[in-house]
Amino acid sequence: MSTVQRKAFLKKDGFTQHKSNARGNTIIYSRKHSTEKFVRIVVDSGIDKNTNKICGQAKAKLVYINRENHWRVITKEVSSNTISSLVQSQSKMVSSVPQCKHCNAKKFTAKSGNVVCANACWTTWGNKKKTQKKKSQKTVEKKSQKTTQKSSQKKSARTYKKKSQKKSQEYYLHLKVGDLVTVENIAISSQKILQDYEGKILGMITKIDDDNNVTTLWTTNATDLLGLPKSNRINRDRVNSLLSWSRFKVMSRKVEWVIK
Ligand SMILES: [Zn+2]
Repeated sequence: MSTVQRKAFLKKDGFTQHKSNARGNTIIYSRKHSTEKFVRIVVDSGIDKNTNKICGQAKAKLVYINRENHWRVITKEVSSNTISSLVQSQSKMVSSVPQCKHCNAKKFTAKSGNVVCANACWTTWGNKKKTQKKKSQKTVEKKSQKTTQKSSQKKSARTYKKKSQKKSQEYYLHLKVGDLVTVENIAISSQKILQDYEGKILGMITKIDDDNNVTTLWTTNATDLLGLPKSNRINRDRVNSLLSWSRFKVMSRKVEWVIK
């Protein structure tokens, strides 16, 4: 397949081009999985973004977008010269990805080498209140999964583009490197602050990458570091399916969460 053929297939199949590639010079594309909510197919086109020439085989993998909007790779990346069959075979791989018994999220291989829940839901165990939260989220996810399955088969992938352009999809906090932050826990139903950790948890933002993964240097006695916020951009559906939401609160300047 030539550059033109590869690009034409990806466009026709509903893929959108990523703005950047953090790991190389090739152009990356992705689109929603046709049946699995929160799963995307990511294709490395093998086309050099500078020369627009083919510089290698195309590669594809599946990622799961977790509660905090982080992308977790859930299948082994496979390469081929034929993108169409590559996309097809990767799509089918979703059925063999292990699933979390507790929250139904897909599992992925963590840096530790362990296969774990993409939502890291174990961090919310052992608390009655949080168990309820887990249950209610499950129901919401199940319901919405059914609707997506039905509708995504009919609608073309163009819908995804439209959806992501719609500005009421996410909560966004304009974080900057160097910001001093703490954590606040908000009740979703009343929007009231349940707990403000100012004075107990202090962090400094050290990095914000293209996928909105935020790296924070935390100074805290809290042992449960996995529960600390890691993103400045969160899907509203995801937040609405929770009882409460732990998020960054900037202390060094005036900036609020906005709807984008
Ligand atoms: Zn889980």
